[in-house]
Amino acid sequence: MAAEADAKQQQTLEFQAEVKQLLNIVINSLYTDREIFLRELVSNAADALEKLRYRTITDKEVADPDLPLEITIEVNEQDKTLTISDTGIGMTRDELVENLGTIARSGSRAFLQQLAEAEQKDLNLIGQFGVGFYSAFMVARRVQVLTRSFVPGEEGCQWVSDGVGSYTIDQTRGLSRGTKIILELKDDAGEFASPDAIKRIIKRYSNFVPFPIIMGGEKI
Ligand code: ADP
Ligand code: MG
Repeated sequence: MAAEADAKQQQTLEFQAEVKQLLNIVINSLYTDREIFLRELVSNAADALEKLRYRTITDKEVADPDLPLEITIEVNEQDKTLTISDTGIGMTRDELVENLGTIARSGSRAFLQQLAEAEQKDLNLIGQFGVGFYSAFMVARRVQVLTRSFVPGEEGCQWVSDGVGSYTIDQTRGLSRGTKIILELKDDAGEFASPDAIKRIIKRYSNFVPFPIIMGGEKI
């Protein structure tokens, strides 16, 4: 029992080679439209809520059934952090490893292929393709993901990375269903801790998200 419990403790894991390649591009390049990271994270939150909504129809039980289906954005201008939370489907430890440590999505693969073929390393391709979750590292020096699956009885988990080579996973108590993504912003990305900037970007790219997006207690 003790050994089993230990195995569930903190673990540091390497990103898949293709993810390292993608992150290297995302972190070390300059782009004009890096604000699209927010579109990607909000779209993931909306997908997770949609999946949860489906599960509440098909599954007998979900964790925290009374939580409203919504997305919450918090900024801290002093600490330069931006947090995007949802009450969606969440992820188990295994799902975290699979979803945020490898490239399962075809969009990111296509992006890498296109970039390899491009004459000019046109980084605006990032905006067109959207490199999904990993685009958080365009603006964040460190990303923390706190998540708890909708499956009753699953433990909560924390995923942390600076996007360079590896990430750390740990068990976390006291989380409710869904996913919280905390971005510790880079020095040159402090603007994304401003409520006005966030409102503008949400209006621009996420106007038709079919769930409420709440900031400072108000729908934006
Ligand atoms: P895509 O959305 O195209 O699948 P992403 O890189 O944006 O690719 O996300 C990778 C995967 O990580 C998603 O498919 C999903 O399984 C998981 N994921 C990301 N964000 C969330 C979230 N907020 N809640 C639950 N799962 C998520
Ligand atoms: Mg996505």
